[in-house]
Amino acid sequence: MITVVGSINMDLVVGTERFPKQGETVLGNLYTTVPGGKGANQAVAAARLGGKVGMIGAVGTDPFGDDLASNLKNEGINTGGIKRVEGPSGIANILLSEGDNRIIVVPGANHELKPQDIDTCKRAIASSDLVVLQLEIPVPTVLRTLEIARTNRVPVILNPAPADGFTDEFLDCEPILTPNESEAAMMFGENWEQALEAHPNRLIVTLGKEGARYHDGERHVRVPGIQVNAVDTTGAGDTFNGALAVALAENMPMKDAIRFANAAASLSVEKFGAQGGMPARGETMERLR
Ligand code: ATP
Repeated sequence: MITVVGSINMDLVVGTERFPKQGETVLGNLYTTVPGGKGANQAVAAARLGGKVGMIGAVGTDPFGDDLASNLKNEGINTGGIKRVEGPSGIANILLSEGDNRIIVVPGANHELKPQDIDTCKRAIASSDLVVLQLEIPVPTVLRTLEIARTNRVPVILNPAPADGFTDEFLDCEPILTPNESEAAMMFGENWEQALEAHPNRLIVTLGKEGARYHDGERHVRVPGIQVNAVDTTGAGDTFNGALAVALAENMPMKDAIRFANAAASLSVEKFGAQGGMPARGETMERLR
């Protein structure tokens, strides 16, 4: 069982010819709601790839809360660890225009996921093969999860995004960290490459279409990405993390696990949307042939 502890959002996507200036109103040409949030995305990625997944998180008492929980259920994810919090669910307001985006995230219920909630789910965490975390929930909640996992010798993938929520305290619990290059620079400075050697097999830096790199204890290893015609890279990192979780929970060696994650993520960028592009197990294995 893979337990994902993290954010669950509704993405409110609005398209317009041009961004409104301050104080201005413009007409839009697109409005759609799609389930998102790094935690939920990574849970969906892992479930599509054949992982048995349970999610711990929080949604609101608004109608989005129902939609978000049933979306996860429909993916075969155990939603018993999702609490309902009085008030709104987390949302991401995504404005698309001029080939660019402007995003406002309102955490809503995600910020009500407290360390006590993690204590309530202690047994699920302790009996997991692997735990997956990101940083869109409060830091004390992340810390409590890491501590329970460490006490019970459960490995953890911590995707340090957004990286401004990262604290060195997390390192005491020795999670596997999966920043992209800019997150790695925020965590370890511009010379983050040196940190790879200090955290062998525990620091995996994703490099976009170039794949990912890490240090295996003896040498630096780069696992090349798979060249594809990318149409939308949203959710590439989430697919990578979900896939890495499935592979490591199945005890694949690190290099093979990263190859698997690169293959899954390369499939996700060929389609639009975060969860929309996440592949199934069969097509991912096919790509690895
Ligand atoms: P995002 O924020 O876009 O979800 P990220 O910035 O967290 O992603 P990246 O390093 O950009 O992380 O991408 C994660 C993984 O997705 C890469 O390691 C790679 O496997 C895959 N990937 C990303 N972009 C491409 C691409 N253009 N072609 C093929 N694979 C890609």
